[in-house]
Amino acid sequence: MVSKKHPQQSTPPKKKTPTFLLELPLEVEAGEAARLRGHLEAGRQFYNAVLSAGQRRLRQMRADPAWQAARSIPRTHKQERRAAFAALRERYGFSEYAFHDLAKALRVAWLADHLDAVLAQTLATRAYRALNRVCVGKARRVRFKSRGRGLASLENKRNDTGLRFVLQPPVEGRKLGYLLWHDDRLPARIDWDDPVVAHGLAQPVKYARLVRRAASSPRAQGAERAGERYFVQLVLKGAPMHKPKHAVGSDTVGLDLGPASIAIVPREAEARLEPLCAELRPDARAIRRLQRQMERQRRAANPEHYDERGRPKKRGKGAARWKQSHRYQAIRRRKAARERRLAAHRKSLHGQLAHQIVAVGHTVLTEKISYQGWQKRYGRSVGLCAPGMFIDHLKRTVASTGGTLHEVPTRSTKLSQYCHGCGTFVPKPLSQRLHQCPCGIGPVQRDLYAAFLAAYLDPAADFIPSCAQYVVPWEGAEARLRAAHERAKERAKEGQVMPRSMGIPRAGARLPESRGEATPELLFLSSRGKVEAWKRRPEPPRA
Ligand SMILES: [Zn+2]
Repeated sequence: MVSKKHPQQSTPPKKKTPTFLLELPLEVEAGEAARLRGHLEAGRQFYNAVLSAGQRRLRQMRADPAWQAARSIPRTHKQERRAAFAALRERYGFSEYAFHDLAKALRVAWLADHLDAVLAQTLATRAYRALNRVCVGKARRVRFKSRGRGLASLENKRNDTGLRFVLQPPVEGRKLGYLLWHDDRLPARIDWDDPVVAHGLAQPVKYARLVRRAASSPRAQGAERAGERYFVQLVLKGAPMHKPKHAVGSDTVGLDLGPASIAIVPREAEARLEPLCAELRPDARAIRRLQRQMERQRRAANPEHYDERGRPKKRGKGAARWKQSHRYQAIRRRKAARERRLAAHRKSLHGQLAHQIVAVGHTVLTEKISYQGWQKRYGRSVGLCAPGMFIDHLKRTVASTGGTLHEVPTRSTKLSQYCHGCGTFVPKPLSQRLHQCPCGIGPVQRDLYAAFLAAYLDPAADFIPSCAQYVVPWEGAEARLRAAHERAKERAKEGQVMPRSMGIPRAGARLPESRGEATPELLFLSSRGKVEAWKRRPEPPRA
């Protein structure tokens, strides 16, 4: 086994400088594309070879009795445990540097013609990282790259040899950029009028990455014959360009995020209750249509894979392969393109909303939510609206303005159960969309109320809500929250679709009491305290 200690291992890690990415489409002709495909195919086979050899090392290492012994060292003995695992890794050559040696040994014959040593090293690093995830229990297994899928990207480590990006001196006033690899010179399409691009290209290039993506169809713009598009991703030193400054407010904003909705309540300004990313719904519907079409095509082409009741059969060893019609493949490409477009659209909607919030105030308070739990319960909405991703986006936006986003642990605050009038915590069933308490608070839409409570949480008091702190703010807030709720109802009446969780009936729905509203029976079932609440409640609001 390899056990040679690499000289670099003992040197301190290089200081990391900030980096950012710039992606440029490449203009690739048929001959060049064929050569690129050849190189990427070599990269794929090489990656698989390293992965396979590395997997063997991992298996042998885990089969060693010393592995079990190391595992049985209690986690409290940190150093001892770490030393035991480090010794094992050393013995079996399971480290990034040992993989680089492995790459050197495997890069022979025809592979060497396609891959330079540095590219082979970055591929070995990739294989090592994949296996290391298995080793530390973050992944169950590694995936070998199939011939059909191929390698989607390949990167260098430096920009002076091998795969690299160069800018040529100006011809007719504009510089031209090329990705150089072997004997090919692939021109990049550069829009110098785009300030983001111009700023990026003014920074030093650390290294370049070639990216291959499937186009929606071979006829798509910029795609070559096989329906693929190529891009160069430049890893640049420095910071990305900041777009012209957005306005930044000084208010404090409370948020209540739902799987498909958001309530925004600033201390001073207007409150809002809105669906999250409502604009994505048509895209999502189109994708679901394509999904159904693919399902029908799969069934039509592969009747042998389904039983007489139309259920997919269990796959055994030696089962027939699934057949894919050309039409099916075309639809699959179209669906992939649509999904990419939806993801980009979602990102821009998240960005817009984040900027709108920051324009009001850059101190933001919200309850920390278990996105994983949501994923299980509301898979579809969470998958579409990605509230977790939105919070991350908002966090970055807030941080870039020098503000703070407090994510308050739900367990201690329990804002959705709290009533500031009497200081009690009463859980509401999901169907109950209004907060109304026998102590006289409400009725008020529950998400707006929770966001209001969040807006006034005090870091000095460990974010624990208390009755006294809300008395004064409530005076001014109640009307604002009502107004926000009314506005949401108005928009629903005009035909905008609202998530059911908001408790707003759809336009034209013949429901004096919508399904989102609490019914007396439901309350009766939930707890005694709330029956009282129901009795005191006036007529349910009519939309
Ligand atoms: Zn109360």
